[in-house]
Amino acid sequence: MNITLPDEVIICEVGPRDGLQNEKAVLTAERKIELIERVADAGVTVIEIGSFVHPKAVPAMADTDDVARGIRRRPGVEYRALVLNRRGIERAVAAGILKAKLTVSASPTHSKQNSNRPPAEVLASFEECAEFARQNGVVLSGAISTAFGYYAEGAIGLELIIPLTEAYLAMGVREISMSDSTGFANPKQVYSYMSELMGKYPEVDWTLHAHNTRGLALANIFAAMQAGVKRFDSSFAGIGGCPFAPGASGNVATEDVAGMMEGMGVKTGLDQEKILDIAETVQSLIGHATDSSTLKLRQGRSAVKSSCTSPVSGG
Ligand code: MG
Repeated sequence: MNITLPDEVIICEVGPRDGLQNEKAVLTAERKIELIERVADAGVTVIEIGSFVHPKAVPAMADTDDVARGIRRRPGVEYRALVLNRRGIERAVAAGILKAKLTVSASPTHSKQNSNRPPAEVLASFEECAEFARQNGVVLSGAISTAFGYYAEGAIGLELIIPLTEAYLAMGVREISMSDSTGFANPKQVYSYMSELMGKYPEVDWTLHAHNTRGLALANIFAAMQAGVKRFDSSFAGIGGCPFAPGASGNVATEDVAGMMEGMGVKTGLDQEKILDIAETVQSLIGHATDSSTLKLRQGRSAVKSSCTSPVSGG
């Protein structure tokens, strides 16, 4: 097997949105701002800071306006937010956000459950966002959730992904994220889908949003890299991402992705120590353990160190 690795990849931190929105502990805007500023300071150049959706739908994101206004913006860092309708993108623009992300489900069942509409109708409803974005200099990106599979349908075929991709392209979207929302994907499927999509739509910047639900996130990321993908979403401490059962994993941890890249000599621009410090802060703020192998290792190491040096253990 010939392994092909890019010189560098872009890691997008989705924790402030896709992570925190699923947590019981709701952080204040000040805390969120602090975390986002630390993420940028650790070298992350794309940060999903929150979502402009109805506060009743996602209460943890109700203060995204304050968060967006409060961040000290670092040059060269992209601060993006999720929007789902015209009202959302208006709020984003008012708060100085110049990159907005739309999202549609590839699974017709998930789309129906989530928005009570089939995927094509959801996309058609984004037209007015696209129009507003064009008028206000906002760049749109698009996510396709449940892109590899969903409980009702099982595997999602590319024939469901292609029309969504074309609809995004028609709207002027040139950056698309394939989201494995329920962790259905396997490396072979990811390689095959991403190779085909990248061949068919070379004008698109493709992102993989991997979930670790079945422990396959890093393998899927590696497979996507073999297909040429260079952009990956991940979440600090591995929080969020709608785990389907208590204790199940969702979003892959940023520090795990960064660690794998660093080990292989693929540049991320991230400071691993700072990223781990952030993950530790996140865990203490939300008050429970999370799915982060690198963080477990660090915490395990410091526990071993202190027990080895304590007089009780015989030093
Ligand atoms: Mg996710």
